[in-house]
Amino acid sequence: MTLNTYLQHMNGSYLFTEIVNRTQAYQAAYPDAQVLRLGVGDVTRPLAKPVIDAMHRAVDELAHPDTFRGYGPEEGYEWLRQTIIDHDYRPRGIDLTPGEVFISDGAGSDLGNLSELFDRTNRVAVLDPSYPAYVDATTMAGRAVTFLPSHAENGFVPDLPKEQADLIYLCFPNNPTGTTLTREQLQVWVDYARKHRSIIIFDAAYEAYITSPDIPHSIYEIEGAKEVAVEVRSFSKSAGFTGVRCGYTVVPRETGMTAMWLRRQCTKYNGTAYVAQRAAEAIYTPEGKEAVRADIDYYLGTARLIREGLQDAGLQVFGGVNAPYIWCRTPDGMGSWEFFDWLLHRCRIVCTPGAGFGPGGEGYVRFSAFSPRAHCQTAIKRIKENI
Ligand SMILES: *Cc1c(COP(=O)(O)O)cnc(C)c1O
Repeated sequence: MTLNTYLQHMNGSYLFTEIVNRTQAYQAAYPDAQVLRLGVGDVTRPLAKPVIDAMHRAVDELAHPDTFRGYGPEEGYEWLRQTIIDHDYRPRGIDLTPGEVFISDGAGSDLGNLSELFDRTNRVAVLDPSYPAYVDATTMAGRAVTFLPSHAENGFVPDLPKEQADLIYLCFPNNPTGTTLTREQLQVWVDYARKHRSIIIFDAAYEAYITSPDIPHSIYEIEGAKEVAVEVRSFSKSAGFTGVRCGYTVVPRETGMTAMWLRRQCTKYNGTAYVAQRAAEAIYTPEGKEAVRADIDYYLGTARLIREGLQDAGLQVFGGVNAPYIWCRTPDGMGSWEFFDWLLHRCRIVCTPGAGFGPGGEGYVRFSAFSPRAHCQTAIKRIKENI
């Protein structure tokens, strides 16, 4: 037996352990200090009533012999896949068939699992900074990663890879920077992928936060994207499903990978829970849509409060308009951990240091709109008083 040495020698999650350690050390030294956590990466509002009602109904169905359901289709129930097409794609002029939509237990699993479709020698390009799963999954699979630096100076639009990239992870609206790409900017990436026979794995986990009319909601709004892009979506950040677990992945016929992905899922994934799929279906009812919109508007309101507050305090900020994250440049060239410590000790605020999202995050910190609104208001006041 030989272990997967790539996985064996990976570091633990330094970022979150270190944040917890530093916060606990501070709290132990100053037990009376009211520490405000503005780094939260998980939604906080409870599930909407239409979703809860649908889950109750689904549970009751499972309790009776006539309506009990066992294994469902590995790719998800067709009623949910069709509902997704009718609401998320057809209104934007995108034609898909249910056979191209795969229900998942969330974006996290598929973002890593999709790499099984590609040869181990394929080269992988990842935005820097980025959500850690792309780099980690690539490393576990024994592949090397090329970083695509994205920072204020290039407007968070990275240059195209200088050497061949076979697999490209893009995430827009972006976590952690909260920034987006216009149609024209995304077209450049689709054109690159067509020319270089690459595949783009497009993480659209924050699609629901898009409010500006010029920002594409799906990569398939871009000409030629169906040939080169897989789109990964999730109900986690839109409808509060981080604990329920449901999302979906689109693998268009034109990629030539649809049958392969189905084959892979049928062996390694036995389907998403029936109750979770009924819960997801309820998001698309008029009442469900209204409730989800209200939650997102609430988070976006908090994002605006943070963004404008930091700006008033003289800080340079990005994102927070079409995303729940505000990416803030550290003042006076401070390191991201140095600014983290300053915020913790001077303002009793916990943020997320940018360096935790890759070398390109150095010089920035991330604030999250999933933080309690009252805490954000107090936090801004403290920053203004101390900076
Ligand atoms: C939260 C998040 C996900 C994962 O979502 P799940 O569906 O809960 O697995 C994927 N991508 C990004 C960028 C995220 O922030």
